[in-house]
Amino acid sequence: MTVDTKILEELTNAHGPSGFEGPVRDIMRRELEPLSDRIEVDGIGSLIASKDGASNSPRIMLAAHMDEVGLMVKYVTDDGYVKFQALGGLLDSALIGQRWVILTHKGPVHAVTGMKTVHVMTPEERSAGFKRDDIFLDAGATSKEDAASRLGIRPGDPIAPDSKFEALNGSDYLLGKAWDDRIGLAVMIEVMRSVQESPIQGTLYAVSTVQEEVGLRGAQTSSYIVKPDIGINIESGVAADYPGITQDEAQERLGSGPGVFLHDTTMLPNLKLRDLVIDVAEENDIPLQFEVLAGYGEDGAEMQRSFGGAPVVNISVPVRYLHTHNGIIHRRDIDQTIELVSKLVQKLDQATVDGVRSF
Ligand SMILES: [Zn+2]
Repeated sequence: MTVDTKILEELTNAHGPSGFEGPVRDIMRRELEPLSDRIEVDGIGSLIASKDGASNSPRIMLAAHMDEVGLMVKYVTDDGYVKFQALGGLLDSALIGQRWVILTHKGPVHAVTGMKTVHVMTPEERSAGFKRDDIFLDAGATSKEDAASRLGIRPGDPIAPDSKFEALNGSDYLLGKAWDDRIGLAVMIEVMRSVQESPIQGTLYAVSTVQEEVGLRGAQTSSYIVKPDIGINIESGVAADYPGITQDEAQERLGSGPGVFLHDTTMLPNLKLRDLVIDVAEENDIPLQFEVLAGYGEDGAEMQRSFGGAPVVNISVPVRYLHTHNGIIHRRDIDQTIELVSKLVQKLDQATVDGVRSF
């Protein structure tokens, strides 16, 4: 099972800060409509595609989020600079010196996060970094009035990172923004494709959620529509295979296969479900890695605690440099994650799900 580079490129290049996922939703709707029996959208924008199997049960929910970390226009200064509110967890040092797109009612407006030039800094200032409140966007507006009338910038406009997809030097290392969680969406599309030829027992719901980065909001509302018996969240894992990050902080490595989360701030997986994932991986010669993080939150948590609760596991594609303009993933990890999740949903008949759900 392999993923098409074109869809990866399209998904990662699409603009979709939290709450403004429209362009990503359009891609997901286009891709999932031919693969689904029904498509619906919940009240805050999550897209729920479902495919019937041999019987009505179990209800299996896949989820991946459409939003990416970004910014929002707070106000424009009298001389035309844009001050912002962050949407999601961004380091101050990841904001500086980058290109951005302000999504206005008149269309996209290009801007950069400017900074004070090195020539005028004291030695202490040079190594101190920048404070969030001192950072601003420069869109080439000459005044507040020019920003509003000519460029169409309004308070509340979303601001997306501007960074284009590239297969890094023609290799299997794929560079782009927003792999968190466009890579989960790409995997979900291919899993839905896999059940066209081998239908599963129950109903498969592929849910593209909104507003994950600001508090798992779309996963909450969509879980209340789907009412899952069991859930599989597909996310970006935290790779720890570069200088300055340790195995105590994160454990995944690029090129070493899908990850299974065992701990994050929001969720503990069901261990019978973890064991089922291990069995499926072993049966199909798919390498597996495990991830234990002290921080991090993910949509699986909302699936897990909706209604009376459901067993959920979070499966990840490892990503380097999450929540920056330039993340890197490995193509083989994507293909192996697609295979793992596709084989896993085939296993989830009612008896198996009952077994996982028995305490
Ligand atoms: Zn994510």
